[in-house]
Amino acid sequence: MPTGIVRVIEPQQLHRKSIKKKRRPYVMFLFICLVGIAGYLLVISIKPKKVEPNSRAVQSSQVSVSQATTTPKNTFKQFTNEEFVSLYSSFAYPNTVDIVTPPVITNNPEADIRIRQLADVRGYRLRSVPIVRPVQINDGFLLQQKASQPLQDLITAAKAENLQITITAAFRSIDEQRSLFNARLSVLPAVIATGTADAAVIETLKTTAPPGYSRHHNGFTIDIACGNVGLYAFLDTPCFKWLSKDNFKIAKEFGWIPSYPGGINSTGPEPEPWEYVWVGRDALLE
Ligand SMILES: [Zn+2]
Repeated sequence: MPTGIVRVIEPQQLHRKSIKKKRRPYVMFLFICLVGIAGYLLVISIKPKKVEPNSRAVQSSQVSVSQATTTPKNTFKQFTNEEFVSLYSSFAYPNTVDIVTPPVITNNPEADIRIRQLADVRGYRLRSVPIVRPVQINDGFLLQQKASQPLQDLITAAKAENLQITITAAFRSIDEQRSLFNARLSVLPAVIATGTADAAVIETLKTTAPPGYSRHHNGFTIDIACGNVGLYAFLDTPCFKWLSKDNFKIAKEFGWIPSYPGGINSTGPEPEPWEYVWVGRDALLE
């Protein structure tokens, strides 16, 4: 402020200043109260929220740590041949429904009853069928959509090893299985009905399931060959050696297991080492 200028203070201004000075302690008091209340509210509202997520985070981290220690990733379970068969039978195949009513086999209901009795004794059981029709794969075969890519991947991996895996059977409908079974029956249904042709029926059951009992009905089962070498000769091929090494490690990598490997002590259908089924890789991990 320049010197020589006198600042004039009006009496009203003086009065107002004195009022302001008097109000300040009240304002300060109010401010402190508000800060106090706000602080208190902050403590009671935020504190529990902070504690809860923290405790949950601790719990979940404990869970993931224990899971990580008990569930090693990418380690395949080791199966005996019986355990492969057991997994095949108990696995919940997606997009399938169980066959409840046994389908017609021949044109003779009594022969059908006889065939089913003999099939039951051999260990056959009713299987499941796809809900949504399977898709076309190589050479016009049909397979469940979910198993289609894993099969292509397996074939491609085999090619990289100079091995040619070919498909000889995939999905088979109940009607197709009926035609196949009847074509392989060497006796007439009327004779089967009398119970005098059981041996002939059993002979057919060694290789062929009656309609409704085939593992190929679910659309996840395939029969394969090495080039054109299939059935029991498949056991001696480099394809089988490659697939089956180390408890079928390569097959498992692509989600496949042998549905009925050799060496099974069973009265059921004969083992079929050329047959594989897709259950998915996850089902095979430890
Ligand atoms: Zn088969």
